[in-house]
Amino acid sequence: MSQICSQCGHPIPLHESSGPTCMQCELDEYRIVRNYLRSHPNSNAMQIANATGISISNILRYIKSGSLTMVDNDRRRPGR
Ligand SMILES: [Zn+2]
Repeated sequence: MSQICSQCGHPIPLHESSGPTCMQCELDEYRIVRNYLRSHPNSNAMQIANATGISISNILRYIKSGSLTMVDNDRRRPGR
C-alpha cells in the first residue's frame, strides 16, 4: 500500500524517511524554479516563492541540492 499525492495523484513511496515527497511534483516545481531563474537570474528565494507559489523551503532545497544556482554575487569563475 502506498500513499497517493494529493496534488497529482502520483503514488508516493513510503520509505521516504524525511516525510512523503512526491517526485513528480518536486520535478514540476524544480522545473518551474529553474525556468524562473533563467528569465530572472537575480531573484532571491523570496521573490521566486512569490512569483511561482512554491514554498521557500522547497526552493532553498532545490538550490541546495546543487542543481540550481541562484543569485551569484561573485561572478568570478576560478579555474577558467
Ligand atoms: Zn504529486
